[in-house]
Amino acid sequence: MKITAVRTHLLEHRLEVPFESASMRFDRRAHVLVEVECSDGTVGWGECLGPARPNAAVVAAYAGWLIGQNPLETERHWATLYNALRDQGQRGLTVTALSGIDMALWDIKGKVLGQPVSVLLGGRWRESVRAYATGSFKRDGVDRVSDNAQEMSQRRAEGFHACKIKIGFGLAEDLAVIRAVREAIGSDMRLMIDANHGYTVTEAIRLGRAAADYDIDWFEEPVVPEQLSAYAQVRVGQPIPVAGGETWHTRWGHWQAIQAGAVDILQPDIAGCGGLSEAVKIASLATLHGVRIVPHVWGTGVHIAAALQFMAAMVPDPVRVNPIEPIMEFDRTHNPFRQAVLTRPIEAVDGVVAIPDGPGLGIEVNRDALAEFRMGDA
Ligand SMILES: [Mg+2]
Repeated sequence: MKITAVRTHLLEHRLEVPFESASMRFDRRAHVLVEVECSDGTVGWGECLGPARPNAAVVAAYAGWLIGQNPLETERHWATLYNALRDQGQRGLTVTALSGIDMALWDIKGKVLGQPVSVLLGGRWRESVRAYATGSFKRDGVDRVSDNAQEMSQRRAEGFHACKIKIGFGLAEDLAVIRAVREAIGSDMRLMIDANHGYTVTEAIRLGRAAADYDIDWFEEPVVPEQLSAYAQVRVGQPIPVAGGETWHTRWGHWQAIQAGAVDILQPDIAGCGGLSEAVKIASLATLHGVRIVPHVWGTGVHIAAALQFMAAMVPDPVRVNPIEPIMEFDRTHNPFRQAVLTRPIEAVDGVVAIPDGPGLGIEVNRDALAEFRMGDA
C-alpha cells in the first residue's frame, strides 16, 4: 500500500455581514482540506489552519516526498517533511501545511486498521465532550454590547454551558461587553474572554483586574504571541488564568511557551501545531508543568473531527474519580460549509458533542459540498 496522490480542496464563502476579531477582519470564510489517496483506494482527510492558498502551495511542495511512501509511517513522514523545510520553516505555513497532511495520514491509518484515531492514540477516555460556544465577534453596523449579550443568551438557550467572547477593542467598551454578557447568561454559565493579542501588557493587566469580578474562566491571547515574557507578566499581574497557543507551532514552540511560564491553559491547534503526531507530544510536555490543554478549534468538520479524536484520548491529569474533563471549542460564527463538508454533521446537543467512533477520524466527506463551495480563481 502506497500513497498515490496528495490533493487540496480550497473552499470559500463570502460573508454578507463581515466580522472582526481584535487582529483580523473576516469578509469571507476560506479553508483548505487535504486529501491523501492510497494505492488500495483508501482516502484520508486533513485540514490546515490559516490562509487557504498559501497552505495549499506548501502541501503541494511536500507532496513529492510522499508519493510512493507507506502512509502508515506517520512519524517518519512528519520528521522527513519537517526536515525538508526546517531551515527556513520552523513555524508558520510550513507547519500548518504539515498539520493537514499528518491529519490525513492518521485518518488513513485508522481506516486501514479499522479503528478510530482516538484508539490508536492510546484509547477513548470519553465518548463525548462538553462544548463551549465561540462567537461575539465585532460585526459591522451593530451595537457590540447588546449584540454580544443577545448572541450569548441565545447560546445558553441552545444548551451550551460555556461561551467565549471577543475583546481587544478598547478597555471601556470591552468591560461593558463583559458586564452585559455576564448579566445576559446568568451566573451559572462559564464565560471566557479572547483578546486575539489585541492588548499591550499594561492594558491586559488593567482589563484582567477589572474583568475578574465577572467570574472569567480564562483570558485568551492577551498579548502578541511572540512576547512570551509579556504573557508571563500578564499571568502574575492579574487574577484570571491566561490561555494561548493557537499561533504557536510544534513541540519546540509550545515548549518555549511552557518554559516561559506564559500560560495556565495551552491551546494547540491540531490543524496548525503540526497535526495529531505533534499534538500528543505537546500534551505530554504540558503535563510536565501542570499546564492544562484545551485545543483551539476553527474551520470545518474535518478539523472538528480530528480535535474530537484527540480529546477522546486526552489522559485525565491527574487520574481521579471525578477528573477535570476537557472542553471542546465550538465556533458558532457563520460558515455554511463547516458541517456541509461532512455527510453526517457533528453538532452539539444540549452543549455536548458525541465523539465519532468509526474508523479513522470517523467521518465521511461530502464531495458535493467541496464542489459547491470551491474557491474561485480570483
Ligand atoms: Mg482564540
